[in-house]
Amino acid sequence: MPRKALPKKTAMRTSCTTNICPVCGYDELQEPPRNRTGGASLEICSSCGFQFGVTDDDKGLTYDEYRQQWIETGMKWSSKGQKPRKDWNAQTQLASLALSATLKRVKGRPPRVFLQPA
Ligand SMILES: [Zn+2]
Repeated sequence: MPRKALPKKTAMRTSCTTNICPVCGYDELQEPPRNRTGGASLEICSSCGFQFGVTDDDKGLTYDEYRQQWIETGMKWSSKGQKPRKDWNAQTQLASLALSATLKRVKGRPPRVFLQPA
């Protein structure tokens, strides 16, 4: 059987695990934001610019606070040295982050459902 060559994807991926930014949902962090002992990676998220261990520990901003700022300033790509993927979309990214957060919450207690008053 003739084999079709697989389309080359970005060959930059160094690890097979996905590290997702808890602020913006960017899924190409080089390292987990926090390791098992809670140590910060000091990595700067290319997407939102949050630096784990600095923005939170040194500047005292929570993920939620920083995310809110990022959204209010237009959800711009942060890294100057690295370009976003062609299909990068801040809103899609945030939506998948919200979804995974919702799914995680479901384990502990039922998600809150907001019903519009009739
Ligand atoms: Zn981020």
